[in-house]
Amino acid sequence: MISLRNVSKNFGDFQALQEVSLDVALGERVVVCGPSGSGKSTLIRCINRLEAHDSGEIVIDGITLSDKPAKLDRIRCTVGMVFQQFNLFPHLSVMENLCLGPRRVLGLSAQDARARAMKHLERVRIPDQADKLPRQLSGGQQQRVAIARSLCMEPRILLFDEPTSALDPEMISEVLDVMTELADTGMTMIVVTHEMGFARRVADRMVFMDNGEIVEVGAPKDVFTAPKSERFGTFLKKIL
Ligand code: ADP
Ligand code: MG
Repeated sequence: MISLRNVSKNFGDFQALQEVSLDVALGERVVVCGPSGSGKSTLIRCINRLEAHDSGEIVIDGITLSDKPAKLDRIRCTVGMVFQQFNLFPHLSVMENLCLGPRRVLGLSAQDARARAMKHLERVRIPDQADKLPRQLSGGQQQRVAIARSLCMEPRILLFDEPTSALDPEMISEVLDVMTELADTGMTMIVVTHEMGFARRVADRMVFMDNGEIVEVGAPKDVFTAPKSERFGTFLKKIL
């Protein structure tokens, strides 16, 4: 579903990604962790082309990422993204946030877009919040709206960039629960998170990044008991 071959990305002289290679199968759940600045966001931003990589190859569901605009549209329909700061449109209601993409990009009728939005609001358990503005919701509710908004585009892959890092502690589990349910449906997911309980429950594989490199990849049960690299071991000791 996702294939990265020797992908590098520079910001000026700084190498944010160094020859990163990773394959993610259909329905696989991958959790990415690593210190701040290690390239986690850059990695997933390259996968939906919010950033353009400098060298190497990225193939998503058979589409090789390049600068062709037609491909960009296909990628954005295939790959959904959920951000740390929710990124909802503040002046639009929850329902309007959810209908925008399906109407404008997928060409759905107003009625079909609303029906689809309602289905996904029910899935994230906040159908009663449809007419509110984002700021009238809690952080946990806003993040669930953001997840529902991604689902409304019916992506084949969902990327999450530290989706619970901006939340008050008591709201983290309501978002992780929704993500766990999504994983149970077979969605292909890459989740950048330091929620190791979630990783243990949900991840098929863990990826540890440091200094723009993938240092270690392994099954959660293996990496939590005995990480192969010292750097991953040291990192896990700090956060567990
Ligand atoms: P992480 O998500 O693991 O914290 P990032 O992928 O956001 O790390 O960033 C990796 C490195 O690249 C950091 O040192 C960051 O400062 C740098 N970086 C990220 N985005 C940009 C940018 N747009 N311009 C310059 N440097 C950037
Ligand atoms: Mg980041």
